[in-house]
Amino acid sequence: MRRLDARRRRSGSSWGGGASLADLYGYAGKVLRVDLTRQKTRVSDLEPDLAAGFLPTRHYTSGVFEHAWEVSGERLAEEYNVKTRGCFACTIPCSRFYVVKDGKFAGLYGEGPEYEALGSFTARVGNSDLDVALKANDMCNRLGLDALTTAECISWAMELHERGMLKRSEADGLDLSWGNGEAILALIEKIARREGFGDVLADGSRAAAEKLGRGVELTMQVKGLDLIMADPRGLKGFGLGFAVASRGGDHLRSEPFIELSDDPRRGEELFGVPEATLRLAHRGKGKLVSYFEDWCAIIDALETCKNIMQNMEILTFERAAEVIEAATGMRMPASEVRRAGARIVNIERMFNVREGVRRRDDTLPRRFREETLPEGPSRGTVFEQEPMLDEYYAERGWDQRTGIPTRETLESLGLGYAADELRKIKASERN
Ligand code: SF4
Repeated sequence: MRRLDARRRRSGSSWGGGASLADLYGYAGKVLRVDLTRQKTRVSDLEPDLAAGFLPTRHYTSGVFEHAWEVSGERLAEEYNVKTRGCFACTIPCSRFYVVKDGKFAGLYGEGPEYEALGSFTARVGNSDLDVALKANDMCNRLGLDALTTAECISWAMELHERGMLKRSEADGLDLSWGNGEAILALIEKIARREGFGDVLADGSRAAAEKLGRGVELTMQVKGLDLIMADPRGLKGFGLGFAVASRGGDHLRSEPFIELSDDPRRGEELFGVPEATLRLAHRGKGKLVSYFEDWCAIIDALETCKNIMQNMEILTFERAAEVIEAATGMRMPASEVRRAGARIVNIERMFNVREGVRRRDDTLPRRFREETLPEGPSRGTVFEQEPMLDEYYAERGWDQRTGIPTRETLESLGLGYAADELRKIKASERN
């Protein structure tokens, strides 16, 4: 901190409005203390998601899991958790450790699960046994598997079984009825070792459908990356973020958490569109998602924790400008910081364009676009993909038909070389 202050003095910087480095630390500390309680209960997000009706249940066939309370974060905290752990110097240790005290898995000691893993091995696969979910989480950690993708593959196979599209003999004799704990744990082991049906599932749901030759329309993925534990019919800004994210169905490229507030005043204040921050409305989501994508790109570029710096609204574009000035002496207005974020998003898009990605690839699974949620507070809604994409491309300055950034957009961001590359791509497409 002393070194940074000295550098600031050398650069003659006024710290963007006269704030001192100590002020910045003080501000962060104050906000973190305020949010400490909320952060410690991060794992209990199953309940709000249940209350809002977008908790993916039995492979997104419902947004309401009737056993959510039995597998809740509250129960985990009260009956299983033994300690917390955090990154160096973090005042919010967001990781937890648990011990299973009795039953079949007595003595099991593991780390986590955070919301995605907990929801994935309970609601997503229809499992109401918390011990099984903790065992599944621990197996994924020890075997080096992504819990979310593993659970998507298993729940996809369970849906095929339920629909009569997968014979028991094709699944190594396992009974893939919803919530069958023994089958869930057996499949995790098989996936890790690429044994039998596990080898079919081991490369993700889209690859599994291709190997099996059926069920690709039921895979819950975008561009090959399996979706998180949020049904986009009940969280439309998140859904648009999944559709356009550069590495597939990825919430961490935008994570427009303000939508969870369902508060139209935030939409009006930030974007001049009240619906932008209403989770069931589709208007204004192009503005919401492009803003949050630019912000996430900056949070990543500064190598800070999104959990705190973005989700708790600490490192805004304005404060990021102050941090950059403190570290480098370089003055950068907040608008220029956001422009740097937009440059990152556009160059990632151009990478994907070069690899063949177009508007047709910015799509969510058919279920979300055509089938309504059958029950709960998000009942009766679909994901209105096309108007949201139109608005997003307009906001980004990308071609409406193809989803390719226009030359004007690229040049305005100082990405002229990518515009030249684009010309070559278009020429080769014509030939
Ligand atoms: S991930 Fe973020 S919130 Fe969690 S311990 Fe690390 S710095 Fe803290």
